[in-house]
Amino acid sequence: MKSIYGLMTDIGNGNELMYDLGLWETEEAAGAYLKQELGHASGIWVEALVINDALSDNLDLDGDEMALCSQCGIEYNEADIIIIDDQDVCINCEPAFKENMPG
Ligand SMILES: [Zn+2]
Repeated sequence: MKSIYGLMTDIGNGNELMYDLGLWETEEAAGAYLKQELGHASGIWVEALVINDALSDNLDLDGDEMALCSQCGIEYNEADIIIIDDQDVCINCEPAFKENMPG
């Protein structure tokens, strides 16, 4: 487990992590991004997130080339992962996943 830092915003019915903006190793780095890129935005703040290492790999925090299969939970090189319906699916799980897809 480790802590990373993301930007949170209040979407009206709860707080939501804006992980598409990025994730940072330190609170300082997240705060600097918030100030530089979103200086005029209100209602956005830095929040610490405690995650497990597998999830951090899945979020591509450190830019390595591994991705976590949503079906079997095993890490693969990104080249062996296909994104289907916004889900990472490895080449081994792809046939079964497609079979179970509606339509
Ligand atoms: Zn798989």
